[in-house]
Amino acid sequence: MNLKPKVGVVSCSGECCALGTLSRVATRLVLEELRPYQTVTLCLPLFLAGEEGEHTFAKEYPTIAVDGCGKLCARKAIARFSKEPVDGVDVEALLKEWRVKPPKDRRVLNDDGIELARRLAKLLAEKVDAVQGAA
Ligand code: SF4
Repeated sequence: MNLKPKVGVVSCSGECCALGTLSRVATRLVLEELRPYQTVTLCLPLFLAGEEGEHTFAKEYPTIAVDGCGKLCARKAIARFSKEPVDGVDVEALLKEWRVKPPKDRRVLNDDGIELARRLAKLLAEKVDAVQGAA
């Protein structure tokens, strides 16, 4: 059993574009499939609405922000109301680095989009391991 402190993996809400959808799906894959016992998430809209419990968690536990684009909404919100995330991903920049085009449909990911979400989730899971390894 893993007794290390849980890591909060927090996706931007990103309803506006496919990059947000990709961020949310990859985050869910980490939470439900890849690192279910090591991770929790925060609801970013609830966090922004001022929920004290969510703020307290992000103050006391390490978080990884998963942002769809360079506006970095999740990272900035966590830093503003709690403390700086220990790590994070700007998915738009990452896809450029990977030379991969973002998914087209912002509502439902097709097979290529799901594959991309799995690749991103794998990277996030490695970041969780790194954070816990350093704890
Ligand atoms: S980081 Fe980008 S994709 Fe995510 S909510 Fe903010 S503007 Fe939308």
